[in-house]
Amino acid sequence: MKRPQAPRHETVVFSSLNLATVHLVRSTLTREGIPSRIRRDHLGPLAGETPMDDARAELLVPDAFVAEATAVIDAARQADVSDRPCPACGEANPATFEICWQCGADLDEDADG
Ligand SMILES: [Zn+2]
Repeated sequence: MKRPQAPRHETVVFSSLNLATVHLVRSTLTREGIPSRIRRDHLGPLAGETPMDDARAELLVPDAFVAEATAVIDAARQADVSDRPCPACGEANPATFEICWQCGADLDEDADG
């Protein structure tokens, strides 16, 4: 008999109301070779094509990778002194980020002003 994928122990290493931010963090982890997945506290099993409203998204990594993932995320947060302040909320974001860590606003827009 088949069983659904055995739930492994996973830990939330990052979460945000902004799904794009979570994807961004996830891609950072992926670059470092850390497996992760995104879980949304949303409508349940059929999430997939669901429009990303206000649902909180969580980034989970297997327990074995938690320390590493946390370090990567920390490093990304602190990367450089050249933080970019968010035009929308003022949060300082690492220069490697293209969107705001906090609110998901586009940090690259330098046209206005
Ligand atoms: Zn922001």
